[in-house]
Amino acid sequence: RVWNFSAGPAALPRKVLEQAQRELLDWNGSGMSVMEQSHRGKPFIAMAAQAEADLRELMAIPADYAVLFLQGGATQHFAQIPMNLAGPDDCADYIVSGHWSEKAVREAAPYLRVNVAASSETDGFRRLPARESWVLDPAASYVHYTPNETIHGVEFHDVPEVGEVPLVADMSSNILSAPLDVSRFGLIYAGAQKNIGPSGLVVMIIRRDLLLRSGRPMAKVLRYAEQAAHDSMLNTPNTWGWYLAGLTFQWLKAQGGVAAMAERNRAKAELLYRAIDDSDGFYANPIEPAARSRMNVPFTLKDGALDGAFLKESEAAGLIALKGHKAVGGMRASLYNAVPLEAVQALAAFMADFAHRHG
Ligand code: PLP
Repeated sequence: RVWNFSAGPAALPRKVLEQAQRELLDWNGSGMSVMEQSHRGKPFIAMAAQAEADLRELMAIPADYAVLFLQGGATQHFAQIPMNLAGPDDCADYIVSGHWSEKAVREAAPYLRVNVAASSETDGFRRLPARESWVLDPAASYVHYTPNETIHGVEFHDVPEVGEVPLVADMSSNILSAPLDVSRFGLIYAGAQKNIGPSGLVVMIIRRDLLLRSGRPMAKVLRYAEQAAHDSMLNTPNTWGWYLAGLTFQWLKAQGGVAAMAERNRAKAELLYRAIDDSDGFYANPIEPAARSRMNVPFTLKDGALDGAFLKESEAAGLIALKGHKAVGGMRASLYNAVPLEAVQALAAFMADFAHRHG
């Protein structure tokens, strides 16, 4: 079998895929696939409600938060969030800590005044913008940040304190990877294709008072309050994605929930960073240790001329999708929930052997 270290769409839990395969032609005794079910039918609605209940339990989501199952990918919500939470004359604070928060700024800019309250760009995104350096606008409609930067491999390990202004977080690449105090946030959103399920689905957790913001005139389908009022079924939802997300939530519960995941993710990341740091400089990760991501580990080889051989040999050894993003080069291993410790052990052993042979 292969171990998939892709940054996204990423590995899903084997057990989830096996269950989906078993149920593909006959879901819930219906003689049909779940993809062929009406989203207005009782069986689908019950399944959808169970998925939401399981997510609420896993993340201990308070009752004053709505959970939405939306479409468009996280990227569409870079634009939809300012549309919903602010008027055209309002401003919002953005913390720029890597590629995705930069993109969130660019996509929000047509809809409101963006205040880049802090950025670590001049540090090459190798560390996080220190909280003391943030210049927040007291009139901001919200503060947006990206707790885990999937490409640069930097992660906030604590939730920043921003006072009364709602904190908005793009958790696409670290949702459900550890316990979280949801009440610290105004809005959490995540593209599903890393820790939840197939791409195209977006899970959003939004404090209900924010649904009352008028934003601006826009089509109903874009308005979060309308989606919440219609249980995310204003139009046909991504039924297949919702179903698979539900299976992942059940799998997570069976694994012991997010606390167990956090423990596993810590062990996996520790093992890989140790393999890099103990390689006598053969491998390097440029990120300040306190800001290192547990989910995405970029690393370079001492001699870039060996990159091709590393990728070819790792793939032949069943270690898949280790090529780094073109923005940073080198390699990247993504260690989402569905990647077991065994996969990281196999990667660390391969890396040691490769370094020994080519060092
Ligand atoms: N935000 C983060 C942190 C990501 O890693 C990604 C990558 O997929 C995105 C946003 C974009 O998500 P999507 O492709 O679903 O629009």
